[in-house]
Amino acid sequence: MVKIEYIVCPLCGMNRILEKKEKGRIGFEVDLDRPFVQIRQPGGKLPMGEEVRAEAQRGIKVRRGQAPALGFRLVDGLTFKQAKESGRYDDLIDEIENQCHKILDQF
Ligand SMILES: [Zn+2]
Repeated sequence: MVKIEYIVCPLCGMNRILEKKEKGRIGFEVDLDRPFVQIRQPGGKLPMGEEVRAEAQRGIKVRRGQAPALGFRLVDGLTFKQAKESGRYDDLIDEIENQCHKILDQF
């Protein structure tokens, strides 16, 4: 039986397949200039574009869910420092600080 090794983030508890870490797709070095608080807007589906229309013309069944989408676009954000200075995320930042202390106590 196949066994898969996961790692659990000591900060947020999310788990990921360890192999992704080895491939460099996950890591614990996060750029602190990257927005910590992110305001995103759903882009929604694009209208039937040329690509999708061409597939439909070739007889390839195109379902509604196959339409290209724009995803969730970042429209505003605050770095960790800005979020801290705003005072709006104090509880969250306290939680992170407390967890960081618990992690450091393990070293
Ligand atoms: Zn995490």
